[in-house]
Formats: sequence, structure tokens, C-alpha cells
Amino acid sequence: MQGPAFVKIDGVSLVYQMAKEETLAVQDLSLDIEEGEFVAVVGPSGCGKSTLMKLVTGLLDTTAGMITIGGRPVQGPVQGVGMAFQNSTLLPWRSTLENVMLPLEIVEPHKRRLRREKKAYIDRAMALLETVGLSEFADKFPWQLSGGMQQRANLCRAIIHEPRLLMLDEPFGALDAFTREELWGVMQALWMKKRFTAILITHDLREAVYLADKVFVMSKRPGKVILSRHVDIPRPRTLDTTFEPHFGAIVHELRDHIHDVRSS
Ligand code: ADP
Ligand code: MG
Repeated sequence: MQGPAFVKIDGVSLVYQMAKEETLAVQDLSLDIEEGEFVAVVGPSGCGKSTLMKLVTGLLDTTAGMITIGGRPVQGPVQGVGMAFQNSTLLPWRSTLENVMLPLEIVEPHKRRLRREKKAYIDRAMALLETVGLSEFADKFPWQLSGGMQQRANLCRAIIHEPRLLMLDEPFGALDAFTREELWGVMQALWMKKRFTAILITHDLREAVYLADKVFVMSKRPGKVILSRHVDIPRPRTLDTTFEPHFGAIVHELRDHIHDVRSS
């Protein structure tokens, strides 16, 4: 028997109010995510994926329905959730290491320990940078790094404080195809090591199948979940995996659903 879901999205709707206009972005959306699970949410552009991300992190209040994380209702911005977006948001005046350590200056209990345990925290950040192949760039500034390197550093920063939940909104969307595929491996390695719960929002079906244990397909706006597909492919997955028939079959299955959604 499974316990209650770690992240529970229950009958959630969101209406944007702009002057006289109302936009129903998501409607009666429900999904359950277990602790330690890596899920992906895919759907056509404008279907409400980023809205969902803002609802789960408490940046937006639901119009109807409820979201709980670890059994606690989300009311206002959730402290300590790791987040990464399409454009890396590194601070230009901080080195890579200083950028990665930023959450430690903000999120408890690290904030209060940071001064006393600075050395241990620097070691932790350096170990993380090592995992993503950036140890030699710790002292460099963001503008001295390539786009892919910046996004690696961005991922490190999103998980340095060991959040129980990591939210990723198209984090690789702005990168070229080669760099993006390279970062799938980096992301998977981080997750296999730390086993945080991750919600990846993406319109790239191959990315979803490479990274996720389960893929949720959303309908066009107003978005709701129309399919939940378990990805029964062993880890670690590699780029070779993406050329295997079973991988291709799952991608095609998802693509068929998205086509149905778009043409309906
Ligand atoms: P996605 O991330 O799937 O592309 P979004 O969640 O960003 O979609 O947007 C869902 C829908 O809500 C879109 O039609 C978008 O135009 C609309 N929308 C998003 N943000 C706002 C806002 N702040 N005010 C009004 N409408 C919005
Ligand atoms: Mg979006």
C-alpha cells in the first residue's frame, strides 16, 4: 500500500484576471506525486504548464481545489523548494561557487549554520560542481561560462540546500540539442544521487521519457491531465537508450495523445 502522495494536486483550477478579461488556464487538474519520484508534465504551448509550476510553489493561489506538499496545504510561497527555469538566473556579479551557495544564505537551517560551517558548505558546493563537471569553473563568473555551463550551475544552485521538491520549468529549453541531451545525463545523475522529488515541465517528449518515472500529458487550455504514462525503462538511461524501440514506442504514444489534444 502506498501512503498519501507527497505532492497532491486535487481538482485545481486557476483563472487569470486581467482588466475585464478572464482566462481559465487550468481546470479541475488532479495529479499525485510520490516522494522521491521524478515526473514530467508535457503539453502543448499555452496549456498551463508554467501556471501549474507557480501553483505548486505557491506563487499563485488556486481559484478552486487544493494542493498539498507533505500533507501541508500550499498557502503562499513554499519555503525551500528548488526551482530552475528556462533562462538561468545566475547573478552576474557572483562567481559560480558564490551563485551555487546563494540558497544557503537564505534557507534555514543552513542560513544560521553557514558562518560556523562555511568550510563544510563550500566542500558540499564544490562536490556538487564536480558532479556536473564544473569544478574548474568555480571561480569564474556567469558571463565566462557557456549557456550549458550556466544551466549546470543553475541546477546545482537549485539543489544545494537539498530541497525535498525540485521544480523544473523547461530548464533546458534555451540550449542547443547537443547540450540539452548532455544535461539530461547530468540531471539524472544528480537525481539518482539525491533522490529528491522532481517535477519537470517540458514540451520535449524525449526529454520527458529520458528523465521521468512517470509522464503526465496535459490537454490544451484549459489544461487538465489526460494521460499518465509510467516509464518502465531501467536507469541509468543513456543516449543509446533513446534509440531503443521501447523508448521510441513510448515517445510515439505520448506524441499521438498530444496530436489528439491539438487537433480536437
Ligand atoms: P505554458 O507554460 O503551458 O505554455 P502558461 O501556464 O504560461 O502556459 O499559460 C497558460 C495560459 O494562461 C495561456 O493562455 C497564457 O496566455 C495565460 N496566462 C499566463 N499567465 C497569465 C497572466 N499573468 N495573465 C493572464 N493570462 C495568463
Ligand atoms: Mg511555460
